[in-house]
Amino acid sequence: MPTQPILGILGGGQLAQMLALAAIPLGISCHIYEPDPHAPARLCAVHHCATYDDFTALQAFADAVDVITYEFENVPVACVAFLAARKPVAPGAMALRICQDRLLEKEFATQLGYATAPFIALSDALSSADAVAAVGLPAILKTRRMGYDGKGQQTIHSTAELDAARAHYIGHELILEGYVPFTYEVSIIAARDQFGTIIRYPLVQNMHRDGILRRSTAPAPCSTAALEANAHLMSSRILSAFAYVGILTIECFVIDTPHGPTLVINEFAPRVHNSGHWSIEGSSTSQFENHVRAVTGLAVREPIMRGVAVMLNLIGNEPEDSAVPAGVAIHRYHKTPRPGRKVGHLTVVAPHNSDCSVLVEACTNLPGTYV
Ligand code: ATP
Ligand code: MG
Repeated sequence: MPTQPILGILGGGQLAQMLALAAIPLGISCHIYEPDPHAPARLCAVHHCATYDDFTALQAFADAVDVITYEFENVPVACVAFLAARKPVAPGAMALRICQDRLLEKEFATQLGYATAPFIALSDALSSADAVAAVGLPAILKTRRMGYDGKGQQTIHSTAELDAARAHYIGHELILEGYVPFTYEVSIIAARDQFGTIIRYPLVQNMHRDGILRRSTAPAPCSTAALEANAHLMSSRILSAFAYVGILTIECFVIDTPHGPTLVINEFAPRVHNSGHWSIEGSSTSQFENHVRAVTGLAVREPIMRGVAVMLNLIGNEPEDSAVPAGVAIHRYHKTPRPGRKVGHLTVVAPHNSDCSVLVEACTNLPGTYV
């Protein structure tokens, strides 16, 4: 049997847990680099427990692995630069740099000719009145970096409110976005391998509440053939422009136009994504397996759907095993429950929408779900 590479993952949360589990059948073992001693992925990978600025520990991590990936895009740049000088890191530096910053992301998408929310960088010289005039109201103020699950964001209804919010976020680089009147939200999940082959999952329809993803459904019930074709072209172009290796997620709004539903890019995630968790049970090759394949030099595989899949996040609480209906898969992240914290997820897969709905309905009122 050929020797398979050892994969290093920066971060040890639930995404690293699912990456490490997907690597095992490929004969690939994983090391995680993660400061939290109780991180979810410690159960299925060798744990390098140290901070991201501990260059002795980073050296030991680089020595122990053959190739490195990451489960979150906010990895400190100095840490990635140090590792990239020692071992291959995928996805590469260009994608990481752009996807870490909401402003660069939107500029990149715009340069390729894709629609985004109206946006403007809030430099000190720019008055709140001019910023509001540029993007309209309501608007959303966001930190350019480090946001997730709606953190570092505030909806803005007036110039005065923006002035107050800017004072609150002093010391952060900020962007102001116009509100996009979307009819629904989707994500495009696609992968490119080192041979340049690109695969894509069907559009996933996402439902958020309080800025946190609650439910994902694949294929997106509201999607159309035209939208899928646009998603295909868009993801292929963006993956190629980045010379990307691994899974890339593009979060989009769908807006109604006189020409039919249209995709508006919200943000990129240069990694496996919460809206693709359903692919473990719902497709022949999960997003996690395809990411591991791509970054370790294997060919990506076209995912074949196993029916309709619905993923429900477990947020702040999780049900007892005995309460989970038969036929529903549960994934636990071994985290201490806190309000707003993702502690696990449920996946329902069924041949048709109607069978799926019955099982999803049976999950209503389980602790942690919002159906
Ligand atoms: P996540 O970690 O879940 O991806 P995030 O913190 O990176 O979230 P965004 O994806 O920018 O933040 O925003 C979270 C949600 O807030 C979006 O999915 C959408 O529902 C809503 N939202 C964000 N920006 C806009 C906008 N410009 N117009 C309308 N809704 C928006
Ligand atoms: Mg988002």
